[in-house]
Amino acid sequence: MIDKAHDEKRQGEAFAPFKSDSTAWRKKFYIESYGCAMNFADSEVVASILNKEGFGATGVAAEADLILVNTCSIREKAEQTIRKRLTDFKKIKKNKPGTLVGVLGCMAERLKAKFLEEEKLVDIVVGPDAYRSLPGLVEEAESGQKAINVLLSRDETYADISPVRLNSNGISAFVSIMRGCNNMCSFCVVPFTRGRERSRDAESILNECRELFENGYREVTLLGQNVDSYYYEAPQTLPSGNGGAVTFAKLLEKVALISPFLRVRFSTSHPKDITDEVLHTMTRYANICKSIHLPVQSGSTRILQMMNRTYTRQWYMAKVDRIRELLPGCGISSDIIAGFCTENGEDHKDTLSIMEYSNYDYSYMFFYSERPGTLAQRRYVDDVPQKVKKERLAEIVEMQNRLSLESNQRDLGGTFEVLIESSSKKSDENWMGRSSQNKVVVFPKANHNCKPGDYVQVKVDSCTQGTMMGKIVSTIPSFVNDTI
Ligand code: SAM
Ligand code: SF4
Repeated sequence: MIDKAHDEKRQGEAFAPFKSDSTAWRKKFYIESYGCAMNFADSEVVASILNKEGFGATGVAAEADLILVNTCSIREKAEQTIRKRLTDFKKIKKNKPGTLVGVLGCMAERLKAKFLEEEKLVDIVVGPDAYRSLPGLVEEAESGQKAINVLLSRDETYADISPVRLNSNGISAFVSIMRGCNNMCSFCVVPFTRGRERSRDAESILNECRELFENGYREVTLLGQNVDSYYYEAPQTLPSGNGGAVTFAKLLEKVALISPFLRVRFSTSHPKDITDEVLHTMTRYANICKSIHLPVQSGSTRILQMMNRTYTRQWYMAKVDRIRELLPGCGISSDIIAGFCTENGEDHKDTLSIMEYSNYDYSYMFFYSERPGTLAQRRYVDDVPQKVKKERLAEIVEMQNRLSLESNQRDLGGTFEVLIESSSKKSDENWMGRSSQNKVVVFPKANHNCKPGDYVQVKVDSCTQGTMMGKIVSTIPSFVNDTI
């Protein structure tokens, strides 16, 4: 199962510019992105800023004047991958002196000037809130100086910047609705690398979603580290009459009202913040997808307390019950960490049992990686041996594989509304799309005149753990009758 909010397959993906781009650019930039969907969305903001300065994108690093890497610090392995990747750019710089290398994102923020000392080939270091200064930093670096801006901001949301869509399928897009995080989960580096939480102007979000819809997009994923704490107070005097406070539930509704043909997804929900108001809003609109990413991290109340997640095992289970009660059939997915400080066999069993209780459709599973400067690093000893962490993670993965397969098997014989995204990777004779519950569905194109962006009803007749297969039974969207 691929969750577009954190797609392992996209790690290190380079921006392939649109073939139709005939602009005569002054210079070329190459950008590669790592980490979560927020980073991929940020690269689209960076592309927009650089376009305005006459920089056009290339998908070939060797022909770029400016090579950028948008980095992730969430686990040590992510940082190691990026350091290794940087060595590849050394050769390019040797063959083409004058090529500039810039490091963006969380690793830039975490390491700051140290990066320039440690990685001699790096010319520019830019933190996540400083992308507007990139053109000035490039100019500085062109004159032979090292350039750095890692200032975090309390109000930067890039609200007015219209992102250039990178590697887009033209159907689904990410829309950032907030930045930063105030939660301080003890294992997490994000509050340090991305700063304080701030919500983006609701009108600018709506405008971006409307524009995407007008340009043929049929799905938006509203992005934030903690979307349920979105809160924006618009001036009461707006000419549109849309002044006043906008909560996440209200924002969801406003985006859903753009068109029943525009699907709305969101990620990530913190279990402590997702409200009944959000769940009720989801029940009212067919185009708000019935899928919730609700990271549990651990099933043990003792460990959750040490993680500073501010909920208990029972509280989380009650939240799952509430979702199942209000939204029967809603997909639920999770993030899980194995081997956090002091975790013992009983705690681990609690994690396995909460997975079973929640019946996750899919999960992102990691072993704990201590991050410098976090609360956990300062307060606790990273005392679970690596071998044990890996064994526990393997058990968690095995459990999830079983749950994913069982979840798909339960859907056999059912008919699901699928938004077609593209041809299937394995065969050009098949379409690939997703159900509202975020499950990948593959089906033959045969005898139907469909295209990406169309909604079809697919009856599912077989499945694997990651994919459901079936046949089209109708090409009329279920909501058409409601809209006539
Ligand atoms: N804001 C989201 C939330 O609270 O659920 C997730 C943000 S984080 C980018 C994505 C996931 O990485 C987390 O949910 C957690 O499971 C994992 N993660 C974060 N820090 C980690 C660490 N130090 N070691 C292992 N996994 C970590
Ligand atoms: Fe990190 Fe917790 Fe914030 Fe998610 S909610 S980004 S895990 S501090």
